[in-house]
Amino acid sequence: DKSDITILIPGNLHPHAVERLSGAFRVLRIDRADAALLGESEREKVRGLAVMTRTDAAFMDALPNLEIVASFGVGYDHVDAKHAGANGVMVTNTPDVLTEEVADTAVGLLINTVRELPKAEAWLREGKWAGTGNYPLTRSTLRGRKVGIFGLGRIGQAIARRLEAFGLPISYFSRRPVEGVDYTYYPSLVELARNVDTLISIAPGGPSTEKAVNAEVLKALGASGVFVNIGRGSTVDEDALAAALADGTIMAAGLDVFANEPNVPEALMKAENASLLPHVGSATIHTRQAMADLVADNLVEWFERGKPITPVVETKDVALPKR
Ligand code: NDP
Repeated sequence: DKSDITILIPGNLHPHAVERLSGAFRVLRIDRADAALLGESEREKVRGLAVMTRTDAAFMDALPNLEIVASFGVGYDHVDAKHAGANGVMVTNTPDVLTEEVADTAVGLLINTVRELPKAEAWLREGKWAGTGNYPLTRSTLRGRKVGIFGLGRIGQAIARRLEAFGLPISYFSRRPVEGVDYTYYPSLVELARNVDTLISIAPGGPSTEKAVNAEVLKALGASGVFVNIGRGSTVDEDALAAALADGTIMAAGLDVFANEPNVPEALMKAENASLLPHVGSATIHTRQAMADLVADNLVEWFERGKPITPVVETKDVALPKR
């Protein structure tokens, strides 16, 4: 009977996920992922976590009967999945259900950046169309651009499909070439940047991509370069990006993600040639509901059948403990 199983929710979680889990399990809530907020008998009861918040090794280790961490979102750099895998704890994320939504947002952000649509709208609303005249012609266009994608995974490929239809040539960098696509592969990010003028980052966060988009990459992208980040803020050296925008090393940037959200560096806030969004890649009622369902479904499948729907790669071999 699943209503005997305790699922702990530290911090915030989508209300639909909370509702689904409360209907199936015994749900316990605390303000943040801090084991000091739980008594010993409560810590021993917890068998599953449903999280959007940072979930580190110490927190998982303080829960002796923890079997599974179901994380909300496809990126799970906030969960120490390597530690979980090494200790027989399953981790799940929410891939696929958000892929097309995030790709739509990426293309919108790219067009906003290149064609300055948010600024053109502000021009109208400020009465300048009637008062001053037409919005100035944009320096930049998508026409003739060459697109490079950093991270040609599920979302990267969905972005590439859209931009193919725009008539733009696509190349990419990831650690390995992707089978079954005929986009041009470059084995390093600098080489990719050197060969394109439009770089879209949709790579995951974490140590392997930390500040990968640095001064050298931005210089290689060049003076007509446009950089769009819809992946993780941690993949960018934000100081180098702000400097490159200020001194014309690149032309413009569109950013949905930042290194220290919700704080955006002052230099980026002030950059006229940057189009900024508050991490809205998947942020529709429709898609967030699907993500919430997948969090709940992963926990239900684990406790009913011993196999979640979407395990992360670090824990794909973790099996249900014998009891
Ligand atoms: P996938 O795992 O399908 O794709 C990730 C891609 O990145 C793969 O092509 C992978 O290839 C590549 N990659 C991973 N590590 C590296 C590395 N160190 N160097 C170079 N390439 C690397 O993930 P999704 O497409 O589903 O999602 C991608 C990311 O997008 C998420 O992790 C999340 O951070 C972000 N995201 C942002 C959203 C937003 O709201 N802005 C919404 C949803 C996702 P390989 O392993 O061969 O290197």
